[in-house]
Amino acid sequence: MVNGYRPNTLAEALEIRGRERVVPYAGGTDLMIRGQEELPFLFLNRLPELRHITAGESGDRIGAACTFSEILDHPGAPAALKAAVREIGAPAIRNLGTIGGNICNASPKADAALMLCAMDAMLRLQSARGERIIPILDFWLGRGKTTLGVDELLTEVLIPRRNCRHYFKKVGARRALAISRVSFAGLFGERDGIITVCSAAFGAVADTVLRSPENESLFVGKTMAEAKAKKAEFLAAYDALIQPIQGRVSAPYRKKVCANLLSDFLAENGI
Ligand SMILES: Cc1cc2nc3c(=O)[nH]c(=O)nc-3n(C[C@H](O)[C@H](O)[C@H](O)COP(=O)(O)OP(=O)(O)OC[C@H]3O[C@@H](n4cnc5c(N)ncnc54)[C@H](O)[C@@H]3O)c2cc1C
Repeated sequence: MVNGYRPNTLAEALEIRGRERVVPYAGGTDLMIRGQEELPFLFLNRLPELRHITAGESGDRIGAACTFSEILDHPGAPAALKAAVREIGAPAIRNLGTIGGNICNASPKADAALMLCAMDAMLRLQSARGERIIPILDFWLGRGKTTLGVDELLTEVLIPRRNCRHYFKKVGARRALAISRVSFAGLFGERDGIITVCSAAFGAVADTVLRSPENESLFVGKTMAEAKAKKAEFLAAYDALIQPIQGRVSAPYRKKVCANLLSDFLAENGI
């Protein structure tokens, strides 16, 4: 059996992906700890089509094989994404790990993916048959499960430009190399006294990232004064929603951390 393919172009990679079962390999930082794969690898690091970062007026586009270090070093990459990426692993992991791998690994603890969820990012999935663009939240089906077809690759992340502030915090065991116990990404924006953006995404509490447009709509379109009056209702709605799964860290502890992070996010934004 061949142990891997090293295509030089996206077309070549998609042709191989469509022809036989392979495991896409970007930085390998998640794959290397999974152990021996039975299928050959499809190495993505030589594909120039997956390595761009383009900042535009209406939105940003980031190639799936961009590493975290490349994102941090790029002056045009969104500040909100950088805030999450800065918290990832140690330099060795940031130099190899990619944004596409962070999304496709489908871990609810993934930091960049969490922020992308708060940012309403869209994903471009391509195969030799064509392409589709879907919201990031629709991509995950569960822990380690995605809607990615066997012949598809994630090629690009599309991020809408928004005039808002960002917030990212993760609570982990150790700062360096810490995988999140609970993490939170939020965006908040207002114009002429009206709240235009309020995204709240929780990581590491469920099988996939937790976001509730219904709860967020309690604030969006309201004045700051109305939001302050609805703050208790807002917090209660999240208290009902967040039912952390029992893991190595107790569920009540994680629920309490979520509530604290949400309150801190609101306080930072004047609510
Ligand atoms: C010591 C250590 C510390 C870590 N710390 C953190 C941390 O703090 N925060 C965090 O979020 N993560 C952390 N991670 C996890 C990991 O580094 C990230 O999830 C990283 O983004 C994975 O990217 P990669 O390119 O290495 O993925 P890979 O290992 O190459 O791939 C991961 C998965 O995605 C698939 N895949 C990759 N790219 C594509 C694509 N373009 N299309 C389709 N499928 C694709 C692969 O087939 C595989 O299933 C850590 C890992 C280690 C080993």
